[in-house]
Amino acid sequence: MKYVKFKNHSEQVPIGKLVCVGRNYAAHAKELGNDVPEFPIIFLKPASNVIYSGESVVHPSYSNNLHHEVELVLYIGKDIKDATDETAENSINGYTVGLDMTLRDLQFEFKAKGDPWTLAKCFDTAAVITDVVLKNDYQLKGDENISLSVNEIVKQNSSIKNMIFSPVEIVKYISARMTLEKGDLIFTGTPEGVSRVISGDKIDANIENIGTITTQII
Ligand code: ZN
Repeated sequence: MKYVKFKNHSEQVPIGKLVCVGRNYAAHAKELGNDVPEFPIIFLKPASNVIYSGESVVHPSYSNNLHHEVELVLYIGKDIKDATDETAENSINGYTVGLDMTLRDLQFEFKAKGDPWTLAKCFDTAAVITDVVLKNDYQLKGDENISLSVNEIVKQNSSIKNMIFSPVEIVKYISARMTLEKGDLIFTGTPEGVSRVISGDKIDANIENIGTITTQII
């Protein structure tokens, strides 16, 4: 079982489900040839896919196009169903940085066939996170810088203000369809600049005032 790691807090919370939002930055939807969505696009990853900053992403042998996606991750600290603006905000107890590692070649093949993307998004080490910063310690301003570099070359560099759907809108949308539970993590989508990584590459991913992930591809 995987547990949430916190900054300045020692509670033991098992990680529940990872709910991910696709195409939440217009420039990223465009770079993959997609329209900007009217509603959030939602998919899941299992908690067993999680590794922490400092551990390595294992490149699956059956893909030739592993991509990085840096994302703001919401930590759900209270069970929530049918959230309102207020209860959605109250259910988000903290934030962290996440990497939604994606097998882009498989994703395009599945999309072309109309099949689910599951195996393009779910594999061991496909979700990298770091310590959760609780809201008590830091209130999100909404315009924090979000960036990622590969071998010290900047690939992604944007602001979370460019998100199409806000954290509250995302929690309202998901919780109207499935209960969110304490320990769930919501990956809120990636800005433009996703690119291929190969074995030996080093990734540094950062969100201003939230944290940094360092990982290597093996
Ligand atoms: Zn993503």
